Amino acid sequence: MVKQTIQIYARVKPLGRRQPPGIYSVEEDEASAFSLEIIVPRDLADGFVNNKRESYKFKFQKVFDQESKQDEIFEAIAKPVAECALAGYNGTIFAYGQTGSGKTFTITGGAERYSDRGIIPRTLSYIFQQLQKDSSKVYTTHISYLEIYNECGYDLLDPRHEASKLEDLPKVTIMEDPDQNIHLKHLSLQQATNEEEALNLLFLGDTNRMIAETPMNQASTRSHCIFTIHISSKEPGSATIRRSKLHLVDLAGSERVAKTGVGGQLLTEAKYINLSLHYLEQVIIALSEKNRSHIPYRNSMMTSVLRDSLGGNCMTTMIATLSIDKRNIDESISTCRFAQRVALIKNEAILNEEIDPRLIIARLKKEVQDLRNELAMVTGEQRQEELTEEELQQVDEQIKSFLEDMDPESTLELGADMRKIKHSFNHLKRLVNNAKLPNNHLLASDTNNSIGYEELKKLKDLLQQRDNEINILVNMLKKEKKKVQDALLQLSASPKEITTSESEMFSVPLENRSSLLHRNTGVRGEMSLGRKEAFEIFKRDYADSITIEDNKQLLKQRFAEAKSLGEKVNEIRNKINHLKEEITQRHMQKAAQAVVSPRQMNEPDPIEETLRTQMEREKKSYKTMFTHLKGMKIEIEHLQLLMEKAKVKLQKDFEIWWSEEARNLQDEKPLLQNSTSVVKIPPSLLEAQPHSYGTRVPNNSRASFNEEQSVKSSGSRLSNSPSKARISPVQSSSISFTGDHQTDADILAFIRARQNLIQKKGLGNK
Ligand code: ADP
Ligand code: MG
Repeated sequence: MVKQTIQIYARVKPLGRRQPPGIYSVEEDEASAFSLEIIVPRDLADGFVNNKRESYKFKFQKVFDQESKQDEIFEAIAKPVAECALAGYNGTIFAYGQTGSGKTFTITGGAERYSDRGIIPRTLSYIFQQLQKDSSKVYTTHISYLEIYNECGYDLLDPRHEASKLEDLPKVTIMEDPDQNIHLKHLSLQQATNEEEALNLLFLGDTNRMIAETPMNQASTRSHCIFTIHISSKEPGSATIRRSKLHLVDLAGSERVAKTGVGGQLLTEAKYINLSLHYLEQVIIALSEKNRSHIPYRNSMMTSVLRDSLGGNCMTTMIATLSIDKRNIDESISTCRFAQRVALIKNEAILNEEIDPRLIIARLKKEVQDLRNELAMVTGEQRQEELTEEELQQVDEQIKSFLEDMDPESTLELGADMRKIKHSFNHLKRLVNNAKLPNNHLLASDTNNSIGYEELKKLKDLLQQRDNEINILVNMLKKEKKKVQDALLQLSASPKEITTSESEMFSVPLENRSSLLHRNTGVRGEMSLGRKEAFEIFKRDYADSITIEDNKQLLKQRFAEAKSLGEKVNEIRNKINHLKEEITQRHMQKAAQAVVSPRQMNEPDPIEETLRTQMEREKKSYKTMFTHLKGMKIEIEHLQLLMEKAKVKLQKDFEIWWSEEARNLQDEKPLLQNSTSVVKIPPSLLEAQPHSYGTRVPNNSRASFNEEQSVKSSGSRLSNSPSKARISPVQSSSISFTGDHQTDADILAFIRARQNLIQKKGLGNK
């Protein structure tokens, strides 16, 4: 058993140049623990005067500051957990933090670059690498991907469903057995035999999630996602199985309703927007307090599912993701506070070993059969089936010792089994008949025969001598033959295995996988000409299309590289084959020479030595290049999946934009009616939404965040659509201001002033 408190790490998201210095600092102390100090500035956000404590200090296992890269995070946090999972312990890594703080980036990865791969793809890669290395055990891996939204579980991996809404996905329910173990009904476990299959499942799940998300449900900020790798291992022949689960969890945004209240109402207590996070906190509090016997796991689905991860049989790690800028100080502090509580929780992970029930069943079956046999013997029941080879041998042995036993009282114990009795009689009959044959008679009376005992002995010795001679000669022959065979075998060994897999490497059509995603994608139905045109323009101005284009270029480049590398690998393979042939030739020549002068056979051959060293060298570079090519293949596939995902998103965002435009056209209203009416603002002004609660910051959007320009837009219809934020000004140029520079500036000033007013009233938070 391994007793361990939950490990806590912090990761600070890069904030670019907007970051005013001195808001936080990171320190490493002697015991190589880290502390993160958050300093609350006196002039907190727009006129709020801070009269609270000046600074807060929190301890973490390690704090990863802004410049930390994904591989560092994997090495330090995920790799040790993956190792434990491989050894048979349960593991959990969960990311906790407000929306936009980098949970998804840390757990799954960024959508742009290959190097931005997060913990899940890196862990999969690592696990499959380790499995390949360990041939002492048989491993099986399965993947499940669960999304929990609003207390409902959804299976993101069910291949039978075409999701266009979250409700289309199969619902997962919780079952508890009498031992209080949690079982998830309707959550599919998909077997993954290699990294590629596992990655495809990850992307399938992510795509399903993206398609099912609507601006209304905002699933990506409000739901929890649990990606689980199930590993089981068994030594061949052993009845013991080890099973472990590794949960990689992307929690819902942890943002709370501000203490100062919503709609003027004062709240006594800070509450989570997401109720299940509130229950998570209750569980954490209960666990961190001594002498609490009841832990309220059952209050929410998420805490039920993660029950083992929290104070149970699991090695658990939490990553607190922080986006520490001025506006998010409160959220950052509460995330850190939460982490401090989590760090108090002790888990007890045990090695999950169990005996394979199938093997026990086989053993029990045999026992039953033995007992049945015994019973049959006792009751004298007629037996129909034949005696086994083993049973026959047993009977023969009994007869032998019966015959050899000189005691006239001895008996042959066969029980009441007629089959054995019959067999014994047959056996005895054979013996008696053999004894009657003349040859046997001769042998049986050896000593009385005309050939004297001495002579017989001499003859026997001679026979023995000849026998030995023959044996020696045969052995010599065998050795020679083996030498030649060994040499040939060695030549044909390793490159052969590699070549087959290598030739298959790029032959699997990549469309296979994308078709997996494709069925879900696409703008549904035929597009009209106008809509097609609009789609083209939308695509051109879409912020993410730069990424798509970049990745396309990169992909092209990688393909070219892979191609030339593949050619090189082929070249080397040909070289190796050629060398192999030369060595075989050499062997044949030597064998021929050996006929003339046999002594030469064992002498070293310098030419062959040279050929061999040359071949070893080629083999080595072959292996290096091959490994490189394999890595490249994974990167190429990853890029293809990223692009596929980006395309799906583009089409989805277009759909949303299109239907909204259509609606807007229907109820077009005057530009400015009164202060509460809809104000149409060029989306370029809406790109930045300094809204920290519940608002989706456009994912990897390249739109610049410019505080100067940003306009709080709670009342604006446009801002309610996250997709809007991604549309560049070009295509929305139809939405006009007055055209007069001065008037436009006035309108903007008015909007800004109104915004400030709303913020000061504290209405801006919801
Ligand atoms: P969350 O899942 O917590 O809501 P995301 O992971 O979606 O947050 O991050 C929000 C945005 O910030 C994304 O565009 C993401 O790519 C970016 N981001 C987050 N963390 C990092 C980081 N460490 N380095 C670079 N970009 C990051
Ligand atoms: Mg997220």
